[in-house]
Amino acid sequence: MADRDVPFRDKAIETASREEIKRIQTAGLKKQVEHALNTPFYRGRYKNAGITSPAVISTIADIRKLPFTTKNDLRDAYPYGLLAVPREEVVRLHASSGTTGTPTVIYLTQKDLDMASDTMARSLTAAGGSRGDVVQNMMTYGLFTGGLCFHYGAELMGAMVIPTSAGNTIRQLKFMKDFGTTIIHATPSYLLHLHAAIESEGYDRGELKLRKAITGAEPHSEELRCKIQDKLGIEVYNCYGMSEMNGPGLAFECVYRAGMHVWEDRYIMEIVDPETLEPVPDGETGELVLTILCRDAMPLIRYRTRDLTRVITGPCECGRTHRRIARFTGRTDDMLIINGVNIFPSQIEEVLLRTKGVGANYLIVVEKDGVLDRMTIKVEITPEMFADDTRVINALRERIRDELTALITIRPLVEIKQPGSLPVAEGKAKRVEDLRNS
Ligand code: AMP
Ligand code: ZN
Repeated sequence: MADRDVPFRDKAIETASREEIKRIQTAGLKKQVEHALNTPFYRGRYKNAGITSPAVISTIADIRKLPFTTKNDLRDAYPYGLLAVPREEVVRLHASSGTTGTPTVIYLTQKDLDMASDTMARSLTAAGGSRGDVVQNMMTYGLFTGGLCFHYGAELMGAMVIPTSAGNTIRQLKFMKDFGTTIIHATPSYLLHLHAAIESEGYDRGELKLRKAITGAEPHSEELRCKIQDKLGIEVYNCYGMSEMNGPGLAFECVYRAGMHVWEDRYIMEIVDPETLEPVPDGETGELVLTILCRDAMPLIRYRTRDLTRVITGPCECGRTHRRIARFTGRTDDMLIINGVNIFPSQIEEVLLRTKGVGANYLIVVEKDGVLDRMTIKVEITPEMFADDTRVINALRERIRDELTALITIRPLVEIKQPGSLPVAEGKAKRVEDLRNS
């Protein structure tokens, strides 16, 4: 591809020299540290570390003098412990997908939202999107950033956005055909589901104008990308983001689709050994740690994402100087991503433990059901409950299902088990059996 065919939203910044990027990052980090000291959380945290002013930062390497921030810190600071501006300046809240326990919430000012939209628009442009595209967003709208944050970015780019949200595949297809959708945004598993529906509903591929899919929210392999590309006859781009970092598009593939550029003028990335927390050499896998430089309402500095990846060394053919990261290989915690929704086994345990009649052991089984994920919770019940009427046992199963659905937002299957029938672990209890890749 000739240079002139590589699309940019802001070529100067996307191809800035490494020195220029470092300069932006150092200045940005100083500003964020100063700003973070306005929040009760960082004031306390930094005071304990002897940090009282941004003077601690003179080069980007000084970031290592600052403590890390974790998801638990966000929960501890809930609801407003990380607010760095007057509450009246906040215009929107978002939260991590999946949980309705103590969620990890972020707050954004109008300027923060404009930044998030601009980052998303930059990403979509890098993937070859442009004004005039018809973008159908099949991600869930609501607290999850894959809905609104993607939406506003696509609009800013100049696309016509169809906010169909997730599910209702028949309607998705009708809109795709009738309005000439060119780009869709969905989880990788939903893309496969969509393909199956195109065939079963008797659509002719030629009736659809679809040319690209943006996918993310859950780990997927290069093989899966190729499969979706072949089946749908489109280009599929990997998109990374998280609510804590303003949602989708913080890292994105350019038209060469060879790893995701992290927008380093807006995010500082570190890759550390999850045990020692020391940086790993470029090219080695470790945990991604991110600092957001473009947020006023809620600074987050050295945030441990728990996502495992590596830097792809060497320049990208597109000419961008922002470094690329590889596809994620997993996480350093036990968070499960089920059909794009984040779930911690501890949340499930919490529900089970407080339910009368539930016994000592349980097992969470995750497997493929066609192209989507299916989760089954196998639960032992107490001998007294087991001796009870089937109707009572069925009612218990439905109660567990309802409570789990209320907490984790997806509806799992629940299988009631006889006391003592589930395998007992000899060492650390094995609570999750993830059979999706076997
Ligand atoms: P949420 O805050 O609900 O948007 O969830 C963010 C998490 O989803 C990340 O920390 C990742 O674990 C996962 N995730 C998002 N995008 C991707 C992607 N492209 N590949 C793999 N995992 C992803
Ligand atoms: Zn590139």
